[in-house]
Amino acid sequence: MRLLSLTGLLLYSCLSSSLYAASSQWLAQLEAPFQQWQVLIKTNPNLLLEQLHSMPAEHKNTALQQAQYHLLMSHASGALVLPEQSIQEAQAGLSLVTLDEQPWLYHQLQLSQALALDLDGAPASGLDAVTQALQWAERHDDANLLVAALMTRGTLLNSLTDYLGAMADLQRAYNLAPQQSDDIARADIAGALALVYEYRGEDNLSLPYFQEAVDYYRQQPASVSLSIYLYGLGRANKNQGNTDTGRAQLQESAKISEQLNDHQGVAYALKEIAGMDLQAQRYTEAERQALEAIQLFRQADNNYMLLDTARLLSSIYLAQQQTERAQTWLQQAQQALDPVSMPIQRVELAIQQAKVLAAQGHYQSAFDLLLQSTDEKQAIQNRQSSEQLHQLRSRYELDAQAHQNQILNAQNQLQQTQLQSQQRKNQLLILLFICATLICTLLLFLFYRQHSHKRALQQLADTDSLTGLLNRRKTLALLQLQADLAKRHGFDFCVALVDLDHFKKINDSLGHQGGDVVLKHFADLCQKTLRHTDIVGRIGGEEFLIALPHTSIDDAAVLMEKLRKRAEDITKMMALTDLQVSISIGLVNNTPPRTAIELLAQADKILYSAKDAGRNRVVVDIPAVA
Ligand code: GH3
Ligand code: MG
Ligand code: MG
Repeated sequence: MRLLSLTGLLLYSCLSSSLYAASSQWLAQLEAPFQQWQVLIKTNPNLLLEQLHSMPAEHKNTALQQAQYHLLMSHASGALVLPEQSIQEAQAGLSLVTLDEQPWLYHQLQLSQALALDLDGAPASGLDAVTQALQWAERHDDANLLVAALMTRGTLLNSLTDYLGAMADLQRAYNLAPQQSDDIARADIAGALALVYEYRGEDNLSLPYFQEAVDYYRQQPASVSLSIYLYGLGRANKNQGNTDTGRAQLQESAKISEQLNDHQGVAYALKEIAGMDLQAQRYTEAERQALEAIQLFRQADNNYMLLDTARLLSSIYLAQQQTERAQTWLQQAQQALDPVSMPIQRVELAIQQAKVLAAQGHYQSAFDLLLQSTDEKQAIQNRQSSEQLHQLRSRYELDAQAHQNQILNAQNQLQQTQLQSQQRKNQLLILLFICATLICTLLLFLFYRQHSHKRALQQLADTDSLTGLLNRRKTLALLQLQADLAKRHGFDFCVALVDLDHFKKINDSLGHQGGDVVLKHFADLCQKTLRHTDIVGRIGGEEFLIALPHTSIDDAAVLMEKLRKRAEDITKMMALTDLQVSISIGLVNNTPPRTAIELLAQADKILYSAKDAGRNRVVVDIPAVA
């Protein structure tokens, strides 16, 4: 059920004109010829319609230009309270654009259509499209479209008697809109808020908002808006008992509308003034103005106002005891009544009928009708209150749901933050692990290098650089160790001292370097002939020590003989002609048990005996006991 306030009907045109004059973005997006006409909506919509009708064809070449043309046509028709035309134009525009390609124009056309649908008595039909436009504006940060959409939805919700919803949207738009602007001004939203208060019958609250709108539009060239807000202000003042002020404002509104050729604007104001005259018992004045108003409403085909003004005329004649005329005008009003969409008006007409009946002397029927009408009025009011209660509850539930969603969102965000922090921790751990692995690898590498370095140094310290055999220090140390072990465990242990014969001569003949080559050959020979468990080292210039653990003196003698023989081969290997390479060997064993020093001294002694005996031979120490 739609309870359309007649004042609201007029104020919609103002809303549309301000919406239609809309945002700077809107103007910027329109093409040049359309921009200059856009301004006319607020100042003279009739002139705009005329100009649009005679618009040159080259301005309507592209589909986009045509869509803009239809939008302007829709706006201008809306501003002149011609809803059907406005809807047709909006639909023509919508058939030329798509939401994907021209979203802004698409939403503007939807807003225009929704307002016109509201004017035409179908506010619910445009609600979804307006909400869609609103959400688009929010997503794309389009403040101007957002204000326009909020204002439109507030207007629709107001018509749907969802006053709280209307108030929420309009209040939000009021806070968003700039105080001074060529486009949507805060004053326009103030006007819409005033309208909501007026719907709620709270004229005292609507007054300051109407006043804000009037004050603003006195400074602007937009006369249509000024005339309409003056009308609202005048009515509110009249209802508050400020009759003189109210009358002056209504008269000013009528005068401006007349200048603009806005016939309905004139008619609305005249009808209100006629009502005031009736109360002041200036019947002739009241009759004249009401008749003029009804004539204009009839021309404009404005059924609501036709009914309302006919009822007023009926009251004017009733006050003058002209019951027949009162009855005639009452019948006129009843003809304009649509009982389904105008239940309140139906009851009000019935009450008027009861008054006429009473004036005609039919007291009983008058009483019955009055009683029935009062009951019906009460029922309608009850229905309205319960609807409002229902809306209030739905709104509360929506708010609660929104609150719940906010909590869930917050929880989700918290979880996400925790997840992120956990992920960061994991990443940190992985990083730490990688660093630790790298450090360990580095340490291992350093340790290994240090170890090999140490081993190389050790090798260098134990080795004779010329022959690669053990050096004197290491040889004697090992001799000491093996002699001690042999002594302790009682195993066979032989020691041989080897000296190259007449080496001075070799040096003299081959040179020092040639001598070195002979020494190297002999060292290789030792390594090839001996076992790897045997000890062989260079303990002097051309003097070598061989230690043979777990070897009997006989075996050692055979082995030394083999070595001696092989040493002779060096001569051939080096192809020496005048020289013969040979060695002398003194071989001793640990029977009786001897220390390393004793073994060395004994071997030295035996070696000398080998030299003395003519060299190139192995002399074996024969123990005295044997
Ligand atoms: P004998 O048969 O009595 O042992 O006579 P010999 O000449 O070998 O003995 P002697 O001890 O008198 O001389 C050893 C020579 O060895 C003296 C020295 O110049 C030489 N010699 C010592 N060390 C090296 C060396 O590293 N390289 C070379 N080429 N000669 C060396
Ligand atoms: Mg020597
Ligand atoms: Mg020698």
